[in-house]
Amino acid sequence: MSTLVIRSQRVLAEGELRPASIAAQDGVIAAIGGFEEFGSGVDQHDFGDAVVMPGLVDTHVHINEPGRAEWEGFATATRAAAAGGVTTLIEMPLNSIPATTTVEAFLAKVAAAEGRLAVDVGFWGGVVPGNTAELRALYGAGVFGFKCFLSPSGVPEFAAVGEPELREALPVLSSLGAVLLVHSELPGPIEEASSEVRGDDPRRYSTWLKSRPRAAENQAIALLIRLSWEFDARVHVVHLSSSDALPCLRRARAEGAKITVETCPHYLTLTAEEIRDGATEFKCAPPVRRRANREQLWQALADGSIDLVATDHSPCPPAMKCRETGDFMRAWGGIASLELSLPVVWTEARQRGAGVTQIARWLCE
Ligand SMILES: [Zn+2]
Repeated sequence: MSTLVIRSQRVLAEGELRPASIAAQDGVIAAIGGFEEFGSGVDQHDFGDAVVMPGLVDTHVHINEPGRAEWEGFATATRAAAAGGVTTLIEMPLNSIPATTTVEAFLAKVAAAEGRLAVDVGFWGGVVPGNTAELRALYGAGVFGFKCFLSPSGVPEFAAVGEPELREALPVLSSLGAVLLVHSELPGPIEEASSEVRGDDPRRYSTWLKSRPRAAENQAIALLIRLSWEFDARVHVVHLSSSDALPCLRRARAEGAKITVETCPHYLTLTAEEIRDGATEFKCAPPVRRRANREQLWQALADGSIDLVATDHSPCPPAMKCRETGDFMRAWGGIASLELSLPVVWTEARQRGAGVTQIARWLCE
């Protein structure tokens, strides 16, 4: 057996930063002790006062292989993850082809990942119209849970579901104890708002922002809370952007609803006021909103109303971002940030008085 010892004046362990040493045997942590513990005859590394913390777990990553590896594949995505301190990521059931909505598609994805991974990778399955009969087998095959969209996903292989399909899937997921991750924007308010901005300048960020109103998120979340209670099902709201939904979520969670919530580095960092017209690299859905909204999200992280931060890393070929035309309405909606979440969140957190123990709770735990 080989023993590795890592020590630092600032090791994050059991919720605090302190001088400590970590002993690992054959790649697995065996013990955490005092700074001077675990003596001679082993491979020792002293990192001085650099922070030694757990690896990040990013539960929301789109890798796009097989089928759209030119958008990004497992080899580069997991190397970016490693460079950013992410040691485990869970990969989304879209935008690969096939989407992970059947066991056969899941096995194709696992085969595509084989031998290409620089970090630990797990997979989400998908709930789409017509695949309820697959869910149990997919869960048995090893997906960690399921993702669905309530509005168009952006790719044709992954259709959105409505309340009827949710009512079909949730009893199955509830019986399995499996979590349902939901892209929480209802199509009704989006369609209404989109028709109102038709004719507005598509290069203006405000046009995109207006086309994805908070109401779409707020109403979707209200529906999810209702269905979670009704089916006693675990529901996870991915990439929360609208702070207006927080009071509803706080109330439901206080009453014991099985609802968890994530937000993303871009909603915690960027603001609508700062996004220049034509700067389509900042397009994502739901959109980055105003500064006051961002501060509400930080408040919710601090008080535990938002459980975690995940990237929603979603790359595409540069041409799909429409940088030449700057057309927000045509550009791909997705921000690639897998490698950046720790520095970005840390920088912003420091300005709000949050330390590394809280950051580890949001990004690692
Ligand atoms: Zn996503």
